[in-house]
Amino acid sequence: MRRHRTVDGPQGPLLSINGRELLNFCSNDYLGLAGHPELKAALKEGVERYGVGAGASRLVCGHTSAHARLEERLAQFTQRERALVFSTGYMANLALLNTFSGRSGVIIGDRMNHASLIDAALLAGASLRRYQHADPRSLQGLLEKTASARNRLVVTESVFSMDGDIAPLPEIAGICRKAEVPLLVDDAHGFGVLGKNGGGALEHFGLDMQTVPLMMATFGKALGAFGAFIAGAAELIECLIQSGRSYIYTTALPPALAEAASCALDLVVRERWRAEQLHKLVARFRREALQLDLPVTDSVTPIQPLRIGDPRRAVELSDALFEKGIFITAIRPPTVPKNTARLRISLTAAHTEEQVDHLLSVLSDLF
Ligand code: PMP
Repeated sequence: MRRHRTVDGPQGPLLSINGRELLNFCSNDYLGLAGHPELKAALKEGVERYGVGAGASRLVCGHTSAHARLEERLAQFTQRERALVFSTGYMANLALLNTFSGRSGVIIGDRMNHASLIDAALLAGASLRRYQHADPRSLQGLLEKTASARNRLVVTESVFSMDGDIAPLPEIAGICRKAEVPLLVDDAHGFGVLGKNGGGALEHFGLDMQTVPLMMATFGKALGAFGAFIAGAAELIECLIQSGRSYIYTTALPPALAEAASCALDLVVRERWRAEQLHKLVARFRREALQLDLPVTDSVTPIQPLRIGDPRRAVELSDALFEKGIFITAIRPPTVPKNTARLRISLTAAHTEEQVDHLLSVLSDLF
């Protein structure tokens, strides 16, 4: 059975759980912004100005100047024509696939795509075809097989949430372009972390709006806040506003959170040292973990899973780490495929070198 661990206090490298202080290596707060004083102040000021709840959905009376400002800022930052804010990334993905596909559609996705993309395809009633993980040739094969279908879409994560590896987006984009099939990218784990300015995997690879017509990212990970957005060509964003059911029929993101997300974007740009510090810690962890012969993967992102395989063993290891004051959850099927249970370690800019070294020393005792 899955279970909750109750955290009492703020997010950060140290968490308070059941009165104990634990070193936290399972958060997606990659840049360490969740507890940033400016972010907290932006949220508080947002509450003073707008109150707490948005009152209604965006198309009724929940659309505020905070949402409008954030969307303009996102469009500019991602160099897309327009952006649309959603209450969660899960809902953004539902809207994305439901708006641009349907019963007659074929959605072609990476085998390891996030659950929200799979659920979105199922809800759209489209036929879901999955290509081998991060494999452009397998994608090419599926595009050839489905060539007679009228309405096709290709969708992939950029940085895979449970593996940390990066999709070969330039090759995938090239194949999609040739086949004239639109490519949608979920950059939840790349946005803020990758790219010279933190613009994510698409900035990292230099993929513009013509090549990747729609991108999605969340505010709940590197931006340390909550919510999500989709960015792309203005007419496609208009389609989402008119037909995205998970956009239309839900209460708007609280405006104070939109203010916090705007502030987080500023911090991503202004405090670029955070991403640099993070990449340094990742390199340090990998170098030492390889020397210690720990079962690391090829990931070069802050997501550094240790391959375990057997789910029971993964839970035992997670419990043993917990006893030693380190919090890393075991990720098991069905979140990941059978026999690939893992300890999903994630590093953040708020960790210190000493904390990473301590993790490595505890791991070397356990493995
Ligand atoms: N896409 C990916 C790749 C994710 O990892 C997540 C969150 N785990 C989501 C979408 C959903 O985002 P949110 O948490 O904002 O619903």
